Amino acid sequence: MRVLVVEDEAQLSEQLAGALTRAGYAVDCVADGETAEFMGQTEGYDAVVLDLGLPKMDGLAVLRRWREAGIRVPVLVLTARGSWHEKVQGIDGGADDYMAKPFQMEEVLARLRALIRRSGGQASPELRSGAVALDPRSSSVTLDGVPVKLTGHEFRVLSYLMHHCGRVVSQGELTEHIYSQDSERDSNTVEVFIGRLRRKLGAEFIETVRGLGYRIGEAP
Ligand code: CA
Repeated sequence: MRVLVVEDEAQLSEQLAGALTRAGYAVDCVADGETAEFMGQTEGYDAVVLDLGLPKMDGLAVLRRWREAGIRVPVLVLTARGSWHEKVQGIDGGADDYMAKPFQMEEVLARLRALIRRSGGQASPELRSGAVALDPRSSSVTLDGVPVKLTGHEFRVLSYLMHHCGRVVSQGELTEHIYSQDSERDSNTVEVFIGRLRRKLGAEFIETVRGLGYRIGEAP
């Protein structure tokens, strides 16, 4: 899964990026509204953390433009402390949740997990398919209850497929959701990660749908 952090306070942006990276997400950071609007329009994100007070274009305008363009990515808005009118504007503008600054990082992570889960239609915090369970709260994976060790990329591939259980996901889509903007992208490596996941979780667990992509679980 991949998250966009839009925050112009450098220190806060770094803290958010660090916490999200440790939690297993690919993370991009931008510090102004124009770049944020562009990135949201051109890249595939699973969630966005959006500050409202931004240079060049404010966060509310960015959000409105995304929504007008039909971009439905879940957005967690960061508001100034006690600013109820910012919350109201944010929610009216298409935000899915908000948090007042200063905040606890753990709460941001929990709210993002909930947003991502809801946008994928999952009710339970733990994702399950057959004998495999993935817990986004601890970034952990088990097979028949036994912990399985995965690299960051393997975890992101598995997490994306399990958040979209039953749907065929193309190699291009997977590539977009497991790498941050500044990492070396090579769609062939997705095949490598799939191969390693099959060795660790069972060859049958990830189905190859010829010419289309990969699928976990039954088609709906
Ligand atoms: Ca700001």
